[in-house]
Amino acid sequence: MKTLSVLGSTGAIGVQALDVARLHGMKIIALAARSDVNKLAEQVEEFRPRYACIFNEEKAEELYKKIAGTGTEILTGMDGLCKAASLDSADLILNGVVGTVGLRPTLAAIEAGKDLALANKEALVSGGEIVIEAVKRKGISLYPVDSEHSAIFQCLQGSRKEDLKKILLTASGGPFFGKKLEEMKDVTVDQALAHPTWKMGKKITVDSATLMNKGLEFIEAMRLFGVTADKIEIVIHRESVIHSAVEFNDGAVIAQLGVPDMRIPIQYALTYPERLESPTKPLSLADYGKLTFYKPDFTQFPCITSALRAAEYGGAAPAIVSGADEVAVELFLDKKIPFTAIGDAVSSALENIHTSSFQSAEDAIEAVEAAHEYVKELYGKGKLSW
Ligand code: MG
Repeated sequence: MKTLSVLGSTGAIGVQALDVARLHGMKIIALAARSDVNKLAEQVEEFRPRYACIFNEEKAEELYKKIAGTGTEILTGMDGLCKAASLDSADLILNGVVGTVGLRPTLAAIEAGKDLALANKEALVSGGEIVIEAVKRKGISLYPVDSEHSAIFQCLQGSRKEDLKKILLTASGGPFFGKKLEEMKDVTVDQALAHPTWKMGKKITVDSATLMNKGLEFIEAMRLFGVTADKIEIVIHRESVIHSAVEFNDGAVIAQLGVPDMRIPIQYALTYPERLESPTKPLSLADYGKLTFYKPDFTQFPCITSALRAAEYGGAAPAIVSGADEVAVELFLDKKIPFTAIGDAVSSALENIHTSSFQSAEDAIEAVEAAHEYVKELYGKGKLSW
Protein backbone atom coordinates (compact mmCIF):
# COMPACT_ATOMS: atom_id res chain seq x y z
CA MET A 1 0.00 0.00 0.00
CA LYS A 2 1.11 3.52 -0.79
CA THR A 3 2.05 6.09 1.83
CA LEU A 4 -0.03 9.24 1.37
CA SER A 5 0.15 12.89 2.21
CA VAL A 6 -3.36 14.37 2.19
CA LEU A 7 -3.65 18.13 1.58
CA GLY A 8 -7.05 19.55 2.39
CA SER A 9 -7.77 16.61 4.70
CA THR A 10 -10.79 18.16 6.46
CA GLY A 11 -12.58 19.16 3.23
CA ALA A 12 -15.01 17.03 1.25
CA ILE A 13 -12.32 15.40 -0.90
CA GLY A 14 -9.92 14.87 2.02
CA VAL A 15 -12.52 13.22 4.24
CA GLN A 16 -13.56 10.84 1.46
CA ALA A 17 -9.90 10.09 0.65
CA LEU A 18 -9.41 9.12 4.28
CA ASP A 19 -12.45 6.80 3.99
CA VAL A 20 -10.61 5.06 1.17
CA ALA A 21 -7.33 5.05 3.10
CA ARG A 22 -9.05 3.58 6.16
CA LEU A 23 -10.72 0.82 4.13
CA HIS A 24 -7.46 -0.27 2.53
CA GLY A 25 -5.09 0.37 5.42
CA MET A 26 -3.05 3.03 3.65
CA LYS A 27 -0.39 4.77 5.69
CA ILE A 28 -0.77 8.55 6.13
CA ILE A 29 2.48 10.46 6.51
CA ALA A 30 0.96 13.96 6.59
CA LEU A 31 -2.41 15.67 6.90
CA ALA A 32 -2.94 19.33 6.03
CA ALA A 33 -6.00 21.50 6.68
CA ARG A 34 -6.85 25.16 6.27
CA SER A 35 -8.39 25.99 9.64
CA ASP A 36 -10.62 23.20 10.99
CA VAL A 37 -8.54 22.33 14.05
CA ASN A 38 -11.14 20.04 15.62
CA LYS A 39 -11.53 17.79 12.63
CA LEU A 40 -7.78 17.78 11.95
CA ALA A 41 -7.07 16.78 15.56
CA GLU A 42 -9.54 13.87 15.25
CA GLN A 43 -7.83 12.74 12.05
CA VAL A 44 -4.40 12.96 13.72
CA GLU A 45 -5.72 10.87 16.60
CA GLU A 46 -6.91 8.18 14.18
CA PHE A 47 -4.19 8.13 11.52
CA ARG A 48 -1.17 9.17 13.60
CA PRO A 49 0.67 10.94 10.76
CA ARG A 50 4.22 12.15 11.22
CA TYR A 51 3.15 15.70 10.28
CA ALA A 52 -0.02 17.75 10.65
CA CYS A 53 -0.13 21.07 8.85
CA ILE A 54 -2.52 23.88 9.76
CA PHE A 55 -2.51 26.54 7.07
CA ASN A 56 -4.03 29.25 9.24
CA GLU A 57 -1.08 29.99 11.53
CA GLU A 58 -3.30 31.55 14.21
CA LYS A 59 -4.75 28.11 14.86
CA ALA A 60 -1.40 26.41 15.48
CA GLU A 61 -1.44 26.89 19.25
CA GLU A 62 -4.90 25.35 19.49
CA LEU A 63 -3.82 22.37 17.39
CA TYR A 64 -0.70 21.97 19.50
CA LYS A 65 -2.84 21.67 22.65
CA LYS A 66 -5.27 19.24 21.05
CA ILE A 67 -2.71 16.79 19.69
CA ALA A 68 -0.06 17.02 22.41
CA GLY A 69 1.23 13.54 23.17
CA THR A 70 0.50 12.07 19.71
CA GLY A 71 4.10 12.62 18.56
CA THR A 72 2.83 14.35 15.39
CA GLU A 73 4.91 17.35 14.38
CA ILE A 74 3.01 20.54 13.51
CA LEU A 75 3.65 22.51 10.31
CA THR A 76 2.01 25.85 9.47
CA GLY A 77 1.28 28.23 6.63
CA MET A 78 2.29 27.97 3.00
CA ASP A 79 5.76 26.68 3.91
CA GLY A 80 4.20 23.88 5.93
CA LEU A 81 1.76 23.04 3.15
CA CYS A 82 4.58 22.86 0.60
CA LYS A 83 6.63 20.67 2.95
CA ALA A 84 3.66 18.30 3.39
CA ALA A 85 3.47 18.22 -0.43
CA SER A 86 7.08 17.18 -0.91
CA LEU A 87 7.97 14.70 1.84
CA ASP A 88 10.58 12.09 0.95
CA SER A 89 8.62 9.31 2.58
CA ALA A 90 5.35 10.01 0.71
CA ASP A 91 4.61 7.86 -2.36
CA LEU A 92 1.68 9.99 -3.45
CA ILE A 93 0.37 13.45 -2.64
CA LEU A 94 -3.39 13.97 -2.72
CA ASN A 95 -4.09 17.64 -3.31
CA GLY A 96 -7.67 18.33 -2.22
CA VAL A 97 -7.04 21.96 -1.30
CA VAL A 98 -9.75 24.41 -2.44
CA GLY A 99 -8.80 27.30 -4.70
CA THR A 100 -5.64 28.72 -6.25
CA VAL A 101 -3.89 28.49 -2.88
CA GLY A 102 -3.26 24.92 -4.09
CA LEU A 103 -0.93 26.02 -6.88
CA ARG A 104 2.28 26.34 -4.84
CA PRO A 105 1.96 22.95 -3.11
CA THR A 106 1.13 21.38 -6.50
CA LEU A 107 4.36 22.74 -7.93
CA ALA A 108 6.29 21.80 -4.76
CA ALA A 109 5.11 18.18 -5.10
CA ILE A 110 6.07 18.03 -8.77
CA GLU A 111 9.49 19.58 -8.18
CA ALA A 112 10.12 17.03 -5.44
CA GLY A 113 9.34 14.30 -7.98
CA LYS A 114 6.20 13.15 -6.18
CA ASP A 115 3.29 11.48 -7.94
CA LEU A 116 0.19 13.58 -7.54
CA ALA A 117 -3.53 12.83 -7.25
CA LEU A 118 -5.01 16.20 -8.14
CA ALA A 119 -8.47 17.30 -7.06
CA ASN A 120 -7.50 20.97 -6.93
CA LYS A 121 -8.66 22.08 -10.37
CA GLU A 122 -7.93 25.77 -9.73
CA ALA A 123 -4.20 24.94 -9.49
CA LEU A 124 -4.22 23.37 -12.92
CA VAL A 125 -6.42 26.08 -14.45
CA SER A 126 -4.39 28.98 -13.08
CA GLY A 127 -0.99 27.31 -13.44
CA GLY A 128 -1.80 26.20 -16.98
CA GLU A 129 1.05 24.96 -19.11
CA ILE A 130 3.53 25.82 -16.35
CA VAL A 131 2.20 22.92 -14.28
CA ILE A 132 2.04 20.52 -17.22
CA GLU A 133 5.58 21.37 -18.34
CA ALA A 134 6.85 20.69 -14.81
CA VAL A 135 5.01 17.34 -14.79
CA LYS A 136 6.71 16.37 -18.07
CA ARG A 137 10.12 17.64 -17.01
CA LYS A 138 10.06 15.72 -13.72
CA GLY A 139 8.38 12.64 -15.23
CA ILE A 140 5.88 12.28 -12.40
CA SER A 141 2.42 10.74 -12.72
CA LEU A 142 -0.54 13.09 -12.43
CA TYR A 143 -3.78 11.27 -11.59
CA PRO A 144 -7.03 13.19 -12.01
CA VAL A 145 -9.47 13.05 -9.10
CA ASP A 146 -12.26 15.19 -10.55
CA SER A 147 -14.97 12.67 -11.52
CA GLU A 148 -15.15 13.76 -15.18
CA HIS A 149 -11.40 13.72 -15.65
CA SER A 150 -11.03 10.42 -13.87
CA ALA A 151 -13.70 9.10 -16.26
CA ILE A 152 -11.81 10.38 -19.30
CA PHE A 153 -8.56 8.96 -17.90
CA GLN A 154 -10.27 5.59 -17.39
CA CYS A 155 -11.82 5.62 -20.89
CA LEU A 156 -8.39 6.28 -22.40
CA GLN A 157 -6.68 3.31 -20.71
CA GLY A 158 -5.11 1.05 -23.31
CA SER A 159 -5.77 3.40 -26.23
CA ARG A 160 -3.45 5.47 -28.40
CA LYS A 161 -3.53 9.25 -28.12
CA GLU A 162 -3.64 9.67 -31.90
CA ASP A 163 -6.88 7.66 -32.05
CA LEU A 164 -8.76 10.11 -29.80
CA LYS A 165 -11.20 12.24 -31.76
CA LYS A 166 -13.13 14.05 -29.05
CA ILE A 167 -13.77 14.23 -25.34
CA LEU A 168 -17.42 14.31 -24.23
CA LEU A 169 -17.43 16.22 -20.95
CA THR A 170 -20.68 15.65 -19.08
CA ALA A 171 -22.33 18.30 -16.90
CA SER A 172 -25.26 17.88 -14.53
CA GLY A 173 -26.39 21.43 -15.31
CA GLY A 174 -26.58 22.24 -11.60
CA PRO A 175 -29.66 23.27 -9.57
CA PHE A 176 -30.64 26.11 -11.97
CA PHE A 177 -30.67 24.15 -15.20
CA GLY A 178 -33.17 25.69 -17.64
CA LYS A 179 -33.53 28.94 -15.66
CA LYS A 180 -33.15 32.41 -17.13
CA LEU A 181 -30.52 34.81 -15.75
CA GLU A 182 -33.39 37.09 -14.66
CA GLU A 183 -34.85 34.32 -12.49
CA MET A 184 -31.51 33.73 -10.76
CA LYS A 185 -31.14 37.25 -9.32
CA ASP A 186 -32.69 36.33 -5.98
CA VAL A 187 -31.13 32.90 -5.59
CA THR A 188 -30.21 32.35 -1.93
CA VAL A 189 -27.06 30.71 -0.60
CA ASP A 190 -29.09 27.67 0.50
CA GLN A 191 -30.60 27.29 -2.98
CA ALA A 192 -27.17 27.52 -4.60
CA LEU A 193 -25.80 24.93 -2.19
CA ALA A 194 -28.52 22.37 -3.01
CA HIS A 195 -26.83 20.40 -5.79
CA PRO A 196 -29.11 17.82 -7.42
CA THR A 197 -26.63 14.91 -7.60
CA TRP A 198 -23.30 15.52 -5.84
CA LYS A 199 -22.39 16.25 -2.21
CA MET A 200 -19.39 18.57 -2.32
CA GLY A 201 -17.69 21.50 -0.59
CA LYS A 202 -19.28 24.97 -0.71
CA LYS A 203 -17.01 26.61 -3.28
CA ILE A 204 -17.40 23.88 -5.88
CA THR A 205 -21.15 23.61 -5.21
CA VAL A 206 -21.65 27.31 -5.97
CA ASP A 207 -19.36 26.88 -9.01
CA SER A 208 -21.65 24.07 -10.14
CA ALA A 209 -24.68 26.33 -9.80
CA THR A 210 -23.10 29.11 -11.92
CA LEU A 211 -21.61 26.47 -14.29
CA MET A 212 -18.19 28.00 -13.56
CA ASN A 213 -17.19 24.52 -12.43
CA LYS A 214 -17.76 23.15 -15.92
CA GLY A 215 -15.77 26.00 -17.43
CA LEU A 216 -12.86 25.26 -15.08
CA GLU A 217 -13.20 21.55 -15.91
CA PHE A 218 -13.10 22.32 -19.62
CA ILE A 219 -9.72 24.04 -19.16
CA GLU A 220 -8.62 21.27 -16.79
CA ALA A 221 -9.37 18.69 -19.50
CA MET A 222 -7.38 20.67 -22.10
CA ARG A 223 -4.36 20.66 -19.77
CA LEU A 224 -4.60 17.08 -18.51
CA PHE A 225 -5.18 15.42 -21.86
CA GLY A 226 -3.24 17.85 -24.07
CA VAL A 227 -6.16 18.67 -26.39
CA THR A 228 -7.37 21.90 -27.96
CA ALA A 229 -10.75 23.45 -27.13
CA ASP A 230 -12.38 22.21 -30.35
CA LYS A 231 -11.82 18.61 -29.20
CA ILE A 232 -14.03 18.92 -26.13
CA GLU A 233 -17.81 18.87 -26.26
CA ILE A 234 -19.93 19.58 -23.19
CA VAL A 235 -23.10 17.47 -22.85
CA ILE A 236 -25.73 18.08 -20.20
CA HIS A 237 -26.51 14.81 -18.43
CA ARG A 238 -28.81 15.40 -15.48
CA GLU A 239 -28.36 12.13 -13.58
CA SER A 240 -24.54 12.23 -13.22
CA VAL A 241 -24.25 8.51 -13.95
CA ILE A 242 -22.10 8.83 -17.05
CA HIS A 243 -19.09 10.73 -15.71
CA SER A 244 -17.73 11.55 -19.20
CA ALA A 245 -16.82 9.74 -22.40
CA VAL A 246 -14.34 9.71 -25.26
CA GLU A 247 -14.96 9.29 -28.95
CA PHE A 248 -12.33 7.64 -31.14
CA ASN A 249 -11.62 8.21 -34.84
CA ASP A 250 -13.67 5.16 -35.84
CA GLY A 251 -16.80 6.56 -34.18
CA ALA A 252 -16.63 4.24 -31.16
CA VAL A 253 -17.53 6.01 -27.91
CA ILE A 254 -16.39 4.71 -24.54
CA ALA A 255 -18.01 6.10 -21.41
CA GLN A 256 -17.39 5.53 -17.72
CA LEU A 257 -20.43 5.05 -15.49
CA GLY A 258 -20.95 4.77 -11.76
CA VAL A 259 -23.01 6.12 -8.88
CA PRO A 260 -22.22 9.77 -8.19
CA ASP A 261 -19.81 9.13 -5.31
CA MET A 262 -16.39 10.80 -5.30
CA ARG A 263 -14.81 7.87 -3.51
CA ILE A 264 -14.68 5.94 -6.81
CA PRO A 265 -12.49 8.47 -8.68
CA ILE A 266 -10.52 9.26 -5.50
CA GLN A 267 -9.73 5.59 -4.96
CA TYR A 268 -8.71 5.03 -8.58
CA ALA A 269 -6.25 7.93 -8.29
CA LEU A 270 -4.87 6.53 -5.03
CA THR A 271 -4.56 2.89 -6.10
CA TYR A 272 -3.98 3.16 -9.87
CA PRO A 273 -3.66 0.82 -11.73
CA GLU A 274 -5.32 -1.46 -9.20
CA ARG A 275 -9.09 -1.61 -8.85
CA LEU A 276 -9.87 -2.54 -5.27
CA GLU A 277 -13.19 -2.96 -3.51
CA SER A 278 -14.96 0.35 -2.98
CA PRO A 279 -16.98 1.66 -0.02
CA THR A 280 -19.69 2.93 -2.41
CA LYS A 281 -22.98 1.31 -3.35
CA PRO A 282 -23.15 -0.45 -6.73
CA LEU A 283 -24.75 1.17 -9.76
CA SER A 284 -28.18 -0.18 -10.68
CA LEU A 285 -29.04 1.02 -14.17
CA ALA A 286 -32.53 -0.46 -13.92
CA ASP A 287 -33.22 1.67 -10.82
CA TYR A 288 -32.38 4.76 -12.88
CA GLY A 289 -34.61 3.54 -15.71
CA LYS A 290 -33.49 6.24 -18.10
CA LEU A 291 -30.61 8.63 -18.54
CA THR A 292 -31.19 12.03 -20.14
CA PHE A 293 -28.99 14.28 -22.26
CA TYR A 294 -29.32 17.84 -23.53
CA LYS A 295 -27.38 20.27 -25.65
CA PRO A 296 -26.01 22.99 -23.40
CA ASP A 297 -27.36 26.54 -23.58
CA PHE A 298 -24.85 28.77 -21.85
CA THR A 299 -26.42 32.11 -22.76
CA GLN A 300 -27.89 32.40 -19.25
CA PHE A 301 -24.66 31.42 -17.48
CA PRO A 302 -21.99 34.14 -17.93
CA CYS A 303 -19.43 32.34 -15.75
CA ILE A 304 -19.01 29.44 -18.15
CA THR A 305 -19.04 31.77 -21.15
CA SER A 306 -16.13 33.70 -19.61
CA ALA A 307 -14.26 30.53 -18.72
CA LEU A 308 -14.58 29.18 -22.27
CA ARG A 309 -13.41 32.52 -23.62
CA ALA A 310 -10.44 32.40 -21.22
CA ALA A 311 -9.63 28.91 -22.53
CA GLU A 312 -9.38 30.41 -26.00
CA TYR A 313 -7.30 33.43 -24.90
CA GLY A 314 -4.86 31.21 -22.99
CA GLY A 315 -1.93 32.76 -21.07
CA ALA A 316 -3.05 34.42 -17.86
CA ALA A 317 -6.76 34.49 -18.79
CA PRO A 318 -7.70 31.19 -17.07
CA ALA A 319 -5.87 32.34 -13.91
CA ILE A 320 -7.82 35.61 -14.00
CA VAL A 321 -11.28 34.01 -14.29
CA SER A 322 -10.42 31.44 -11.64
CA GLY A 323 -9.09 34.11 -9.26
CA ALA A 324 -12.05 36.45 -9.85
CA ASP A 325 -14.53 33.63 -9.29
CA GLU A 326 -12.93 32.63 -6.00
CA VAL A 327 -13.42 36.07 -4.41
CA ALA A 328 -16.89 36.54 -5.94
CA VAL A 329 -18.07 33.16 -4.60
CA GLU A 330 -16.79 34.06 -1.14
CA LEU A 331 -18.69 37.37 -1.27
CA PHE A 332 -21.83 35.53 -2.35
CA LEU A 333 -21.47 32.95 0.44
CA ASP A 334 -21.08 35.86 2.91
CA LYS A 335 -24.37 37.25 1.48
CA LYS A 336 -22.65 40.44 0.36
CA ILE A 337 -23.46 40.19 -3.35
CA PRO A 338 -26.28 38.58 -5.36
CA PHE A 339 -25.78 35.24 -7.10
CA THR A 340 -25.74 36.79 -10.58
CA ALA A 341 -22.95 39.22 -9.55
CA ILE A 342 -20.52 36.28 -9.59
CA GLY A 343 -20.82 36.18 -13.37
CA ASP A 344 -20.54 39.99 -13.60
CA ALA A 345 -17.33 39.92 -11.56
CA VAL A 346 -15.76 37.14 -13.60
CA SER A 347 -16.53 38.63 -17.01
CA SER A 348 -15.47 42.11 -15.93
CA ALA A 349 -12.15 40.78 -14.59
CA LEU A 350 -11.50 38.87 -17.81
CA GLU A 351 -12.13 41.92 -19.99
CA ASN A 352 -10.32 44.50 -17.86
CA ILE A 353 -7.23 42.90 -16.35
CA HIS A 354 -4.21 42.87 -18.60
CA THR A 355 -1.01 41.04 -17.75
CA SER A 356 2.17 41.16 -19.78
CA SER A 357 3.90 37.83 -19.38
CA PHE A 358 2.90 34.35 -18.37
CA GLN A 359 6.05 32.29 -18.06
CA SER A 360 6.38 31.23 -14.46
CA ALA A 361 4.45 30.16 -11.39
CA GLU A 362 5.01 33.67 -10.03
CA ASP A 363 3.25 35.13 -13.11
CA ALA A 364 0.31 32.80 -12.48
CA ILE A 365 0.09 33.76 -8.83
CA GLU A 366 0.33 37.45 -9.77
CA ALA A 367 -2.54 37.08 -12.24
CA VAL A 368 -4.68 35.38 -9.61
CA GLU A 369 -3.88 38.08 -7.07
CA ALA A 370 -4.65 40.82 -9.57
CA ALA A 371 -8.06 39.21 -10.10
CA HIS A 372 -8.64 38.97 -6.34
CA GLU A 373 -7.86 42.67 -5.93
CA TYR A 374 -9.94 43.63 -8.94
CA VAL A 375 -13.08 41.92 -7.63
CA LYS A 376 -12.59 43.29 -4.11
CA GLU A 377 -12.33 46.75 -5.64
CA LEU A 378 -15.48 46.27 -7.73
CA TYR A 379 -17.27 45.23 -4.56
CA GLY A 380 -15.81 48.18 -2.62
CA LYS A 381 -17.16 50.57 -5.27
CA GLY A 382 -20.62 49.05 -4.91
CA LYS A 383 -20.58 47.68 -8.46
CA LEU A 384 -21.62 44.16 -7.47
CA SER A 385 -24.59 45.04 -5.28
CA TRP A 386 -28.25 44.31 -5.76
MG1 MG B 1 -16.21 17.42 -11.59
